[in-house]
Amino acid sequence: MAVAIAIASGKGGTGKTTIAANLAVALAKFGKKVAVLDADIAMANLELIMGLEGKPVTLNDVLAGKASIKEAIYKGPEGVLVIPAGVSLEKFRRANPEKLEEVLKEIHDLVDILIIDCPAGIGKETLIAISSADGLILVVNPEISSISDALKVIAIAKRLGTEIIGAIVNRVSNESTELSVKAIQTILEIPVLGVVPEDPHVRKAAAFGTPLVVMYPDSPAAQAIMEIAAKLIGAK
Ligand code: ADP
Ligand code: MG
Repeated sequence: MAVAIAIASGKGGTGKTTIAANLAVALAKFGKKVAVLDADIAMANLELIMGLEGKPVTLNDVLAGKASIKEAIYKGPEGVLVIPAGVSLEKFRRANPEKLEEVLKEIHDLVDILIIDCPAGIGKETLIAISSADGLILVVNPEISSISDALKVIAIAKRLGTEIIGAIVNRVSNESTELSVKAIQTILEIPVLGVVPEDPHVRKAAAFGTPLVVMYPDSPAAQAIMEIAAKLIGAK
């Protein structure tokens, strides 16, 4: 039985997909069997970061009842199983998000850890992902709009009874205008699992379609993500 972890934020562009993809690969590097699923079925871009774009069968086909989940699983870097959502707008229109819960259950037997990359906002896919997950990790940026959106997601997770594992503070550059990690922890009232710096290697790796922790393992952001993965495994 896998432990399913939803990665959400409320606000868009905080780095959910970057963290989900790289955390999955980092956990695999530590010997875990890992799957990562793109629940952002409208703006799918997990497949781009994992170097698996343009696959014929995707999650949207499964949600449309046109394929089985096994057909939409692809082997990515470090043996991570990737379930891409697919970028076809036509397929997205036919997808039924209600089926997501069933699909998530089917993946449980295949791996130790299932990472779910959520869309921004608190739409249907996010709610289903959070309610079916065992734990939630929030990806926030050190700014007030990101923190206030995260608070809404935390409130929802509490109502749904999902454990809140903690927050990852991403894109930290230590500018004076940024909220401090201490302030973030005080406002959110949840543990901060790690701090990932603003790092140009993130964009470079994405452009090559290779996860950061594979392409630039010594970069500051990759090291931070590896540390978070180690901490997560240690805590289990
Ligand atoms: P989300 O999934 O939350 O919308 P993404 O992971 O797609 O966010 O990231 C949004 C953008 O920010 C991408 O262009 C990504 O390369 C960039 N980004 C994310 N994290 C970092 C970081 N630590 N340093 C620099 N750029 C980053
Ligand atoms: Mg995303």
